[in-house]
This record gives sequence, C-alpha cells and structure tokens, in this order.
Amino acid sequence: MAKKVSFAQKMMKTDIPTCPVCGEKYLFLKKVTTYKSEKTGSYKYLTQNLKVCKCNEKEAWS
Ligand SMILES: [Zn+2]
Repeated sequence: MAKKVSFAQKMMKTDIPTCPVCGEKYLFLKKVTTYKSEKTGSYKYLTQNLKVCKCNEKEAWS
C-alpha cells in the first residue's frame, strides 16, 4: 500500500531538540501508513510520530 504523509508541523517551541549528527533542529512529522490486515483483510492505519532531520528526511518523506 502507498504511504501517505498527512502533514508536517514545525513546533513553535524554543526547546526543539537538535540532532547531534547534522546539527539541524528536528521537524516533527506525523506519518500515517496504511496496511492491510492479513487476519481480517481490512485496511488499517498506523500512525507514527517521527523526528525528521537531514539524516533521515529522505526516508521520512518517501
Ligand atoms: Zn540529523
């Protein structure tokens, strides 16, 4: 099933954690993945809250 990114939101707080690897502030991303349950045959949604920075942005937005 296709993956869909529902929205990206930048937190307005000043205490945004910073990635120790690339030095970028994290972007908080809510990612919703749709998958088909093998047991019931119906589609389900899996929501993940990701912290995105330069290190993983390509994977996060794929
Ligand atoms: Zn990083």
